[in-house]
Amino acid sequence: MIRFEQVAKVYPDGTTAVDDLSFEVAEGELVTLVGPSGCGKTTTMLMVNRLTEPTSGRVLVGGEDVAQTDPVKLRRRIGYVIQQTGLFPHRTVLDNTATVPVLLGWKKARARERAAELLELVGLDPGVYGRRYPAQLSGGQRQRVGVARALAADPPVLLMDEPFGAVDPVVRERLQSEFLHLQATVRKTVLLVTHDIEEAVRMGDRMAVYGQGHIEQFDTPAAVLGAP
Ligand code: ADP
Ligand code: ADP
Repeated sequence: MIRFEQVAKVYPDGTTAVDDLSFEVAEGELVTLVGPSGCGKTTTMLMVNRLTEPTSGRVLVGGEDVAQTDPVKLRRRIGYVIQQTGLFPHRTVLDNTATVPVLLGWKKARARERAAELLELVGLDPGVYGRRYPAQLSGGQRQRVGVARALAADPPVLLMDEPFGAVDPVVRERLQSEFLHLQATVRKTVLLVTHDIEEAVRMGDRMAVYGQGHIEQFDTPAAVLGAP
């Protein structure tokens, strides 16, 4: 579903973010990208939804070269969850969740119905939380809204950049298990960035372990842990 072919990315200021990335993620697979800060994990994600372009090599999503795909169409198929959630502060939780379907031209009532379903799915009672504003939620609840919003248009691919990074360890563990439970139902193709090796092991069907600018190991958690 996602394929990188000898991808390199050098930013305009000359920084090499990734030097040679080749890997493949199967449909419905959850791959964690793990490694120290600055090793190229976020850059990898940004090349999937074309928020940045590779300097060389190709990135394919669903068999299509993203460089040949209209970015707007591409992003309809790719949900994106980031650490600070990027929720709109002046919109209610329900409207935040309904944003993407509305942009896609769904009728408002249908988009809101869908948003309510999704809030339910991530464990937030839409009747209670739907009308609140992001500032009236806990950090953990905001992250759940971020996940609900990313799922709203039912994209086959989900990019998650440190989705559970901004909450305390107890909440993080709860969100991790809730997401795994959710993933068992929705079966998205997921790339999940983390610098927390335990999270990578727990969440990943496979793990991409980064060194500086490239992947050193790409294997199941058991194989990565078992490696010398
Ligand atoms: P990670 O997500 O693993 O922390 P990044 O992909 O964000 O790593 O960054 C990889 C490298 O590219 C780092 O050295 C970072 O400073 C650099 N970098 C990231 N974004 C830019 C940018 N827009 N311009 C220049 N350098 C960048
Ligand atoms: P968490 O453990 O999920 O981070 P918090 O301790 O931050 O939870 O919040 C606990 C409860 O307080 C949550 O149910 C949340 O809805 C509520 N809450 C937090 N901040 C606010 C606020 N500013 N206004 C209203 N309710 C809030």
